[in-house]
Amino acid sequence: MLIHSASQLLTLAGPPQRGDELGRLGIISDGAVLVKDGVVAEVGTSAELKVRHPDAPWLDAGGKVVMPGLVDSHTHLVWAGDRAREFEMRIQGKTYLEIMTAGGGINATVQATRQASRETLLAQTRARADILLSNGTTTVEAKTGYGLETATELRQLETLLALDQEGPLEIIPTFMGAHAIPPEYQGDADRFTQLICQEMLPVVKQWWADHSAGRPLPFVDVFCEAGAFNLEQSRCILETARQMGFPLKIHADEFEALGGARLAAELGAVSAEHLVKTPPEDIKALAQSQTVAVALPPTPFGLGDPNYTPAKAFLEAGGLLAIASDLNPGPAWCESMQFVIALACRYLRLTPAQAIAAATINAAAAVNRAAQIGSIEPGKQADLLLLDTEDYRHLGYRFGGNLVKTVIKRGQVVLSHPG
Ligand SMILES: [Zn+2]
Repeated sequence: MLIHSASQLLTLAGPPQRGDELGRLGIISDGAVLVKDGVVAEVGTSAELKVRHPDAPWLDAGGKVVMPGLVDSHTHLVWAGDRAREFEMRIQGKTYLEIMTAGGGINATVQATRQASRETLLAQTRARADILLSNGTTTVEAKTGYGLETATELRQLETLLALDQEGPLEIIPTFMGAHAIPPEYQGDADRFTQLICQEMLPVVKQWWADHSAGRPLPFVDVFCEAGAFNLEQSRCILETARQMGFPLKIHADEFEALGGARLAAELGAVSAEHLVKTPPEDIKALAQSQTVAVALPPTPFGLGDPNYTPAKAFLEAGGLLAIASDLNPGPAWCESMQFVIALACRYLRLTPAQAIAAATINAAAAVNRAAQIGSIEPGKQADLLLLDTEDYRHLGYRFGGNLVKTVIKRGQVVLSHPG
């Protein structure tokens, strides 16, 4: 298939974009892409490619923007129930930590997810996956962590594998048994840490070998935060996981700086997320490492909190920056990476070009897939979006709507909005 007549073909060609390189879109005017067997075969101008491939079926982009599929590199996609009541409480003045201490927060979703049947969990998660795809996300990272007991954590992993199998949305799973301290371990985070290290991680590894048909191991993630896992517990879990071969992620410095960002750099984690309260020396350590810094602007936005990730400081220090939704039933039920881009422009002060790169090629790096997705280059998976605009800056500039017209996953048109 030859997709031609893109006003701007955003290739995002080249490696993930560090520091002030961020925002290199690799635009081809009147661009075209040849797709073969689900993979990008050639990229060039419409004139060149039409001459070289007159017999390929043509898809006319109609003078609009064509770009790589959006990659949402941080979500908690798989849960049951909702927390609309909690949203109302927060509006009335309760803080996130107060709600968590009062038995709300993550643990409310843990109860609902433990009680949900396999079918309910699958159906509710699938509904969100469909919305993600319809808003242009073609690959999503998705964490467990609403089970906090082995059986429910495995059911979450099972749900993610089943949905990935169904497609077309590609799902990259993360095991996050260390998302919160469950009610039965309240006040004894050390014992729960031991349970994760000694029981959950080995069971997950074996279950994965038996059920994933040879896929690489999922990520292991930890919520390193006051009220969740302290630095020592986080280190214990991540080091154990690393020894077992799991790639690592960490939630760090969302409300308090505990040293999680520095730990991520030290352990060679693939990404570190939130990074709102990260002190300057830890920003430097992270920026000089291979670990991707992932900002999650929907979370402070959802909390009505004025504190956002100091993205400019990460870029000035030469860091690799990505943006993601943090989709979850608490403060950030956000299924649109287009909205994340709009927030990143306003609150992280990224230009539309920087935000787009942070949501594609750099987001691919944040899930260890920069060699397969995140840009339009020969040999990469043909995950593409046709937008309903001629100017890429409308991503970011406009918000609250959906500029995606057509979604192509692995070379197949999987979704086409009318009009
Ligand atoms: Zn998160």
